[in-house]
Amino acid sequence: MVQGRCECGKVRFEAPSVRETVTVCHCSQCRRTSGHLWASTHAPFKELSFFESEGLEWYASSSFAKRGFCKFCGSSLFYRMNDEEGIGIAAGCLESPTGLRIGKHIFVSGKGDYYAIGDDAPQIETF
Ligand SMILES: [Zn+2]
Ligand SMILES: [Zn+2]
Repeated sequence: MVQGRCECGKVRFEAPSVRETVTVCHCSQCRRTSGHLWASTHAPFKELSFFESEGLEWYASSSFAKRGFCKFCGSSLFYRMNDEEGIGIAAGCLESPTGLRIGKHIFVSGKGDYYAIGDDAPQIETF
């Protein structure tokens, strides 16, 4: 089981497994909502079990997707396309050791000018 939670604990969940690779999104929307980069793994939404979801709130960040966060502590937790059965889960909210590795960087043209990408994972312009 993979377990994750927000900083204050008002959102707690687990999944049987998550995708081994982390996708890092550099678009300006992800950088704003996360504070830096949105780095997420993935799982089928129906496989997530919530022990605690009192803090979970959704923000419709576009006409096609929403972002889940904790309304008490502000942790960025999820990204979900409206028509998708899966859910993106913030790598940073998972308990260590995660066993995950970075699989790709997306929307790198939107990257901030204050950092460099320091690994050799593929860099692409789409999802
Ligand atoms: Zn919280
Ligand atoms: Zn993004």
